[in-house]
Amino acid sequence: MYSVRLKKGKEKAVKQMHPWVFSGAIEHVKGKPENGDIVMVTDNNNDFLAYGFYNNTSRVAVRLLEWNLETEINENWWRKKIRTAVKFRESLHTEDTNTYRLIFSEADYLPGLIVDRYADFLSVQILTSGIERIKHILLDELQDLLKPKGIFDRSDASARAHEGMEASSGGILLGAEPPEFVSVRENGIFYQVNIAEGQKSGFYCDQRDNRRFVAEHVRGKKVLDCFSYSGGFSLNALSKGAAQVISVDSSALALETLKRNMEINSFNDIPHQLIQSDVNKQLRAFRESNEKFDLIILDPPKYAPSRSALTKASRAYKDLNRTAMLLLNEGGLLATYSCSGAVDLSLFKQIIAWAALDAGKEVQFIQQFCQPADHPVRSSFPEGEYLKGLLCRII
Ligand code: SAH
Repeated sequence: MYSVRLKKGKEKAVKQMHPWVFSGAIEHVKGKPENGDIVMVTDNNNDFLAYGFYNNTSRVAVRLLEWNLETEINENWWRKKIRTAVKFRESLHTEDTNTYRLIFSEADYLPGLIVDRYADFLSVQILTSGIERIKHILLDELQDLLKPKGIFDRSDASARAHEGMEASSGGILLGAEPPEFVSVRENGIFYQVNIAEGQKSGFYCDQRDNRRFVAEHVRGKKVLDCFSYSGGFSLNALSKGAAQVISVDSSALALETLKRNMEINSFNDIPHQLIQSDVNKQLRAFRESNEKFDLIILDPPKYAPSRSALTKASRAYKDLNRTAMLLLNEGGLLATYSCSGAVDLSLFKQIIAWAALDAGKEVQFIQQFCQPADHPVRSSFPEGEYLKGLLCRII
């Protein structure tokens, strides 16, 4: 077997079961493993640490899979990991919800693999060469476990390029082509999902619980849903008795989908407005026209893709939240999120506090939000924690 010897002192993270070995930590590679080959990782004394798959293009040279010397990484090993991840989500599948993440990469010991379920269709992202190797096992196991109508490929080209992989051809991997819009249910609300072209893999299922939590506070209120996408928060607000909902997003496809979602849920009789605009621009326009709201939701895209973008991103979060605070009626609520892994909860709280000071306001933190059960965070891999949010009362 190929083996990778670490530099002296570089074994600590591996012993703590962190799943990444950076190329800079490697002293010597024995043999000539190809991208995706299984290697044994040893400390500087050649003592076994873990098994993982190798990639000489990526900054993460080995993605670790198994810390037990006796356990062989063979077809059964992969099948078991896939099965375990899928079985763990079984309790999420209810009469009210048939869309969720089935496999979440490192969190499920399958680095670089993401599988989302959209009713009878699955969407797959294969982002590492190690997972590309076992694609046939993956498809076979998913077919066996779930009997989907179709499995669709949404692998992100730029993530694959980091691994030295070709962009995938996309499209259908197994079974039938999904219709342009697949109908799914989440918390009893119907959504149309465009699996081929929608953002992320079609829908942001990571906000499932948070949509429900926020909707508990909407009765009789005027709600502004910023970065609405296909309307997850807006529709939950409408279903729980909001008096009025305004959704803002810059994407035409997002708003077209939102409109369909309004129709299929028969929410058309409640006052609802869709605005296609840049959120910052729209918030300034509301300021100028002195329009106020009782509850504002801010769910922006990732402002900090990495730690190096932290300063700029913190400022952007601060400015956005500050402007929103100024648009709230007395005692209004702000449900604010960040999906930047580099911004942890304590920094996010700090940013909100800065925004409040700048706005001449104070904040009561009412509730903290995180990612749901189908996006677990391994204690050894804090990098997997990315979504956080705060429900704030602005005074
Ligand atoms: N809240 C949504 C998910 C938001 S994802 C849900 O529950 O499903 C982020 C959204 O922000 C995307 O729909 C994207 O189109 C939109 N977006 C990104 N930059 C924007 C901007 N500057 N102004 C308005 N919308 C923007």
